[in-house]
Amino acid sequence: MEYFLNATFYKLIKMIHLLFISYNSAWLLMIAIALISFVVQWRFKSKFKQYSEMPLLSGLSGKDVAERMLHDNGIYDVEVISVEGQLTDHYNPADKTVNLSPDVYHSRSVAAAAVAAHECGHAVQHAKAYSWLTLRSTLVPVVNVASTLTQWTLMIGVMLLFFTHNPFVLAIGVVALALVTLFSFVTLPVEFDASSRALAWLNNNYNVMQTREEHEQAKDALWWAAMTYVVAALSALATLVYYASLLFNRRD
Ligand SMILES: [Zn+2]
Repeated sequence: MEYFLNATFYKLIKMIHLLFISYNSAWLLMIAIALISFVVQWRFKSKFKQYSEMPLLSGLSGKDVAERMLHDNGIYDVEVISVEGQLTDHYNPADKTVNLSPDVYHSRSVAAAAVAAHECGHAVQHAKAYSWLTLRSTLVPVVNVASTLTQWTLMIGVMLLFFTHNPFVLAIGVVALALVTLFSFVTLPVEFDASSRALAWLNNNYNVMQTREEHEQAKDALWWAAMTYVVAALSALATLVYYASLLFNRRD
């Protein structure tokens, strides 16, 4: 019994060493990106708050801006609705709705106009069958399964690899994680394109956004929103590199 406990203890120490020390470059990369991600999230939230306090000179609400942009793009079958929560704004291609959080839907601010126009940018992508959005939508069901898989295969896989030298479960986890990572990179062109459609429309509509300053602020808010997607993709990649290094650098 004592031998068994000692052996288990030894294996645990060895596992902790392998997880956090041996592959420390991958581990440090993951920590570094987590820190950058925290700073970017904080920066985006503070920018959003700042521009939420800037009243839009045209006096239009997020809902008004969204409806105008949709109609200007010849879209009449998409509904603009309000959803609960903060920063929960999104476009739902399944039921063709632009979902705006209460802070955006009712607010008559620069931030609300920018976010509303960005979400309509996704509706325009959908209407025009923009290829990256089509690819992203195709990946959604696969990625849902993959992200559920990663929740348990990675942890169980690491345990099995160290205690039984069986890499099978961890390999499944790494493949699932690779799909999740791919998805987060496919999201990037979709997000950047929605923002550039939004800014182009706002720039051409003096009756919505009247000053250069308002336009610059909208651009800044959407830039930081896009950065949150960039760090999310990098973070997924760093996590993938970490687990892949555990899988491929194992010593049986
Ligand atoms: Zn978006």
